[in-house]
Amino acid sequence: MSAGEPKWRGRQVSEAVYRQRIVDVEAITTLPKALRERLIAEGWRVGRPTIGQVFTSRDGTERYLVQGQVDGLTVETVWMPEGDEGEAGDTVGADPGGEGAGRSWDRGTICVSSQVGCAVNCQFCLTAKLGLQRNLTAGEIAGQVVAVLDRQGVEVGKDRVNLVFMGMGEPFLNYDNFMLAVRLLVEEVGLSPQRMTVSTSGIVPGIERFAKEPAEIRPKLAISLNAPNDEVRSELMPINRKWPIEAVVDAVRRVRLRAKERITFEYVLLGGVTDQPKHAAEVARLVRRTGLPAKVNLIAWNPGPEIPYATPSADAVETFRRALGAEGVPVYLRRPRGRDIYAACGQLKRTVEDSTG
Ligand code: SF4
Repeated sequence: MSAGEPKWRGRQVSEAVYRQRIVDVEAITTLPKALRERLIAEGWRVGRPTIGQVFTSRDGTERYLVQGQVDGLTVETVWMPEGDEGEAGDTVGADPGGEGAGRSWDRGTICVSSQVGCAVNCQFCLTAKLGLQRNLTAGEIAGQVVAVLDRQGVEVGKDRVNLVFMGMGEPFLNYDNFMLAVRLLVEEVGLSPQRMTVSTSGIVPGIERFAKEPAEIRPKLAISLNAPNDEVRSELMPINRKWPIEAVVDAVRRVRLRAKERITFEYVLLGGVTDQPKHAAEVARLVRRTGLPAKVNLIAWNPGPEIPYATPSADAVETFRRALGAEGVPVYLRRPRGRDIYAACGQLKRTVEDSTG
């Protein structure tokens, strides 16, 4: 807080916004009345991004256009009741019970954006088509989560909710804001970092910084691998030319994993491009070679307009999954969620006009 007030006043405000979910300066009764009046007179506002448009999938997934407070640009946030199996096989942060509160879901996953658009330019991703428009602030990143928690009536500490930082943008190219948001979500909102997963395309300096974060606030790490080798990966993800697979894996090795924690390798299956049995054998070798406790999450590619790839056949997906499993690699298939409303992985692009929702 920089209204000529001491630091601990800022703390009171952030507690009010994130813990008590207050959206009006007037209602922050921990501040003296005179200070509240002065802040209002000076034009200070509190609150969080607001959910604008909502698209609801027939599978219950909701995709939100969330409006930032700075310039009104929108980002996308997705709520997946029952999750998408992406957290399957995670033994850290897994929860034995959790009844929900008599709702239609008893657990959920929120997919959070970290930037408006993205500069990484993965060839299979719709968000890439936007280019990078700007970084989100920490408040805008954490605010997406709080807005969805409120909308869904989530009781923090009681309901099972996972966060995945896999929406629009590359979190490690907006590192400071991303980690500040995580800190707010852990310390003020009360969410566990062991229920959060951040996915990176392989930004090595970001992974190196991440490796130094204290375990109390460090989310779990997923590497968006998507290819069996450097040659294919450089085609699909130009960032691989800067930081090839081995450099990424070297950086990941520096992360001190919690007991039973595993690194996730996300692998998007592109029909005819990365879904062949020989690719499965290569991925198995690659994962084994890392020596890391790891699992692979498979995602059948979700179609998007103007992207020249094909969804893999169900047979190819199953054959790939079995081949990895047979090689002893823990492998899980992420269920596509909200495909009909462009909410699935790699489909986020503020597709108001394209949506069927
Ligand atoms: S897949 Fe992720 S890192 Fe790659 S362009 Fe899309 S949003 Fe950016």
